[in-house]
Amino acid sequence: MEMRLRIGEREEALGYKGTFRFETAAETIGVQERDARFSGPVLVEGTLENTGGSFRVTGEIRARRAFVCDRCLAEAEAAERYSFAEDFRKGASDDEASFGDDGVDLAPLVRDAILSSLPIRNLCRPDCKGLCPKCGVDLNQGDCGCDREITDPRLAVLKDLLKK
Ligand SMILES: [Zn+2]
Ligand SMILES: [Zn+2]
Repeated sequence: MEMRLRIGEREEALGYKGTFRFETAAETIGVQERDARFSGPVLVEGTLENTGGSFRVTGEIRARRAFVCDRCLAEAEAAERYSFAEDFRKGASDDEASFGDDGVDLAPLVRDAILSSLPIRNLCRPDCKGLCPKCGVDLNQGDCGCDREITDPRLAVLKDLLKK
């Protein structure tokens, strides 16, 4: 489904303010699975405001993001919220923030808002204990009893390299 805001006579009236709501999916807005995976729909809600010189679009995206925890390698999900704001002008320029007769295309705006907010580290929870470097047990499930205090620094370097 396309995510377009129609700009007609009603919207052209100075001071116009209205709300919009779309339910879309990652593939529809061009978010690749290697960047972000979502379980369920991507909800987009916001307002369109005619400010005279331009049309101000602000809104919020809500979605459940699925990912693999960087520390314990478990599948995890997080309820995410991303916000966006952009001023659109009517015109035929190649500028991303312009629109033509077919209205304002929200897809690039929503995609950029998601991609620019993705975390560098994916953790199932902020205090994830990760895996035991000796036996590989998920330390969130309980301690394995390994002595992890003495670790070979050369192995630590190797482990970091393997992560990349
Ligand atoms: Zn974890
Ligand atoms: Zn262990």
